[in-house]
Amino acid sequence: MSERFIVCENLVKIYRVADLEVVALQGLDLEIARGEMMALVGPSGSGKSTLMNILGGLDTPTAGRVFVGQHNLLALNRRQQVLYRRQVVGFVWQQTARNLLPYLTALENVELPMALNHVPARERRARAVELLTSVGLGDRLNHLPDRLSGGEQQRVAIAVAMANRPALLLADEPTGEVDSEASTAIFQVLRALNEQFGVTVVIVTHDYNVASRVDRVVGFRDGRTSIEVLRRRGADGAPLTEEEFAILDRAGRLQLPQAYIEALEMRDRVKLRLREDHVGVYPDRNGEPPGVGEGEGRT
Ligand code: ADP
Ligand code: MG
Repeated sequence: MSERFIVCENLVKIYRVADLEVVALQGLDLEIARGEMMALVGPSGSGKSTLMNILGGLDTPTAGRVFVGQHNLLALNRRQQVLYRRQVVGFVWQQTARNLLPYLTALENVELPMALNHVPARERRARAVELLTSVGLGDRLNHLPDRLSGGEQQRVAIAVAMANRPALLLADEPTGEVDSEASTAIFQVLRALNEQFGVTVVIVTHDYNVASRVDRVVGFRDGRTSIEVLRRRGADGAPLTEEEFAILDRAGRLQLPQAYIEALEMRDRVKLRLREDHVGVYPDRNGEPPGVGEGEGRT
């Protein structure tokens, strides 16, 4: 992996609601390279938004370590946290209405975060026009949000998130409320900004085409990462291929796919055998040890 930009180590987030504790992240490890465009997928409640809110400086973990560039997110004081949110990250929410102020035009919405960041008026205008053009809305500058389609509103929201030239763009289900055509346009815009500005992009999505649209997909389950899909270009410009991996954490743990567990009726404990170039995982059948060579690719 090239330069590490985001490092999450053993992140834990516990929400306390009345007398209940909800463990939203349970020892999550994740690294993201600078300039990467990656996606997080996983069932509802698996902790994706919790991680996004932590990376966005909107929430703090209960334990663990998290760095974004030089910023240790657990060490920021209130003022630094405000500046971090304003200058280092841009955030796009699923709910289109949450991203834009309804009484400001597209142009004014994009200018607003720059005004908060004391960018001079002329520069604000020029940069807002440039960004709205980049997201394909150069002809919608003076439209109010309710005159735009849901997909167009999300693209304005992306321009707003990019207004202060963040190093990190976070989008939590940005395509959750739009049709598949608008979804494709949103991914194209995110990719274009990733290439044009080198911004690192992290997207939470249910889009099942996502693997072809990003560099890497990380699957969440129960508050940690479980699988990873990488796209790799073969030697000499061979076509991109997608490869799925299980994630091996620093303690040596990995998660077996549920289908494999069921197919071999594995429960409670399994036997591991080190072979020349792989590790075998065997169900524990009546205490019989797996024979030499058992399960060695014979069909
Ligand atoms: P996802 O985005 O993957 O659907 P979340 O990160 O939103 O998952 O939630 C992870 C878990 O944490 C869920 O069980 C959810 O109910 C709980 N949770 C999230 N936010 C809060 C909160 N503010 N207060 C209490 N529980 C929360
Ligand atoms: Mg969520």
